[in-house]
Amino acid sequence: MESDSTIQKSANGEHPKAIKVLIYHRVLQDPDDSRKHEYMCVYASDFRKHLRLLERWGFTSITFHDYHLYLKGELDLPRKPVIITFDDGYKDVFENAYPLLQKFGMKAVIFAIANSKILSNVWDHGSEHPASDLMTEHELLELHSAGHEIGSHSLSHPALPSISKEQLWEELSRSRMLLEILLNAPVRSVAYPYGLVNEEIKKIASEAGYFTGCGVYTGPAAFGEDPFEIRRILIRGTIGTFGFALRMLTPYEYYGWLRWKLRMIILGPVRHQHEVSADVLDTPESSNVSS
Ligand SMILES: [Zn+2]
Repeated sequence: MESDSTIQKSANGEHPKAIKVLIYHRVLQDPDDSRKHEYMCVYASDFRKHLRLLERWGFTSITFHDYHLYLKGELDLPRKPVIITFDDGYKDVFENAYPLLQKFGMKAVIFAIANSKILSNVWDHGSEHPASDLMTEHELLELHSAGHEIGSHSLSHPALPSISKEQLWEELSRSRMLLEILLNAPVRSVAYPYGLVNEEIKKIASEAGYFTGCGVYTGPAAFGEDPFEIRRILIRGTIGTFGFALRMLTPYEYYGWLRWKLRMIILGPVRHQHEVSADVLDTPESSNVSS
């Protein structure tokens, strides 16, 4: 078996570059709908602004697949790589973000629910997040054909630390298999639902054939240091241009990492990863984590 998951250097001995990984959820046209769900949503006009700023600042989007080709010495990375991810695979990402990505010539990674019978965010039922359609298989296929990466976001979006080992294997392994059948291509990246991950989950993700696993607020600050707990920078709808600049042009991920470490020193190790997710680790308004 290929050992990409443990490689910390590229084939030519270079260390991985500092790569920022962004996380979005929904991209909306309708300004009336997103205000109270700002954690989950950005407007298409703001997303367009983000892409324009990335372009202006010299960033080039890559996928996790590109990164692994780089580790194997098969691809050079651009001078300032960035990875743009979307969790859950909402239809509005296909409708509103995909055309903008194409317009700017940028690639994204879409982490999709592999169970095609799940048509909307049923896991949010009863929460403040409104029901929203997910992409169809046809739409996922189109994104993949256009050069975007499709990763797994499990079969049914459970909190992985709360399910049995057998269910965990099913959620990680079967979701990968179903997406590979759909796309007729390897699927090697996974985003853990709610960003919840522990050592056992990472081990099973590796055994299930993934090369990378994404959390949200946990994991080392340096990209690639732990390929199965990649920290991402949440882009919410309210951050504005200054907030976006802060996240892209400063070592923002180190600030988040430091807060996470300090919190563990002050409050002790978390008993359960839910506590990481449910608490304030990013900014005060981030308490309703859903990824
Ligand atoms: Zn999610």
